[in-house]
Amino acid sequence: MKRISVLFCGGTVGMMRNKSGALTPTFSSKLLLEKIPDMNKIANVTVRQVVNVDSSNMTPKIWEDLAVTIQKLYNQFDGFVVIHGTDTMAFTASALSFAIQNLTKPIIFTGSQKPLSDIASDAPINIINALLVATKHVPDVCIVFGSRILRGVRSSKVSESHLNAFESPLFEKIGNITTEPHVHAVYAEKKKKKIQFQARFDPHVAVVDVIPGFNPEIFAILIDSSLHGIILRTFGPGNIPDSLISEIRRAKEKGFPILILSQSVYGMTQMHLYQVGYQALRAGAIPGRDMTMEAALTKFMWILAQTRDPVKIDKAFRTNFAGEVTLS
Ligand code: ASP
Repeated sequence: MKRISVLFCGGTVGMMRNKSGALTPTFSSKLLLEKIPDMNKIANVTVRQVVNVDSSNMTPKIWEDLAVTIQKLYNQFDGFVVIHGTDTMAFTASALSFAIQNLTKPIIFTGSQKPLSDIASDAPINIINALLVATKHVPDVCIVFGSRILRGVRSSKVSESHLNAFESPLFEKIGNITTEPHVHAVYAEKKKKKIQFQARFDPHVAVVDVIPGFNPEIFAILIDSSLHGIILRTFGPGNIPDSLISEIRRAKEKGFPILILSQSVYGMTQMHLYQVGYQALRAGAIPGRDMTMEAALTKFMWILAQTRDPVKIDKAFRTNFAGEVTLS
């Protein structure tokens, strides 16, 4: 039997209702094997609690701790299952994709929409499917949820209640779950590159949505704040109001990186397409191409923890580290 490390981080799986009826983390991860005894029929499972939080309370520091925990356990296990709240699961899965590269083993994230203690909870089936995927040859950080197996660094939460809560809008699914999980992605048997652990994130990044009539003074305040970079989510394929262009130019001159994403769920940047995008590109904005917001944010934090040099930052955004971006 394969040895699988189950790392419990909290989320709805282990929540119960408090006096006000609101779901709150209460459950001890020690109960997991008792509540879902079939886990041990699939693999030799060891459960560890990393934290027990609503995933709204996850932080870059906890991403680092989780990555370091996996690094320490890496040689002792054949795969990892991370039980995590759905709200920020795509952020943590993306962060881990940058922190641990050239994987040779699966790191599978899952969680649930309903607590394990509720009738018809989706927690047992999601956890069982995640374990089954973790025993396969899937050297990747994935999200297994509902009927989908997705690449973590390409995924976003798309529903707060559907059992298929995640999608990877611009990337093929890794697999599907019918009566059992089917992995379609083909992973080369031999990895040439050595596994790399680099678990540091600079939290000084903000994500800002452009709106019609966006006040450039507010944008200027952000550029002059204690932030080290901004992600600007823009219209269509990277289109930005004329009023922000001089601030983008000023940011470039002072070595302050601005990454551009599309606000469209299925959108990617194509900044040569319209003059309103092209002039931002000329002013020094960096195109984020088809990265999800979660991947772009964690990549930005991961890069900034290693360098503040604008040339190196620009180069890093033109590099595909973990399958997060399509370069062409
Ligand atoms: N608020 C919960 C969390 O992200 C939602 C969930 O787990 O589904 O921790």
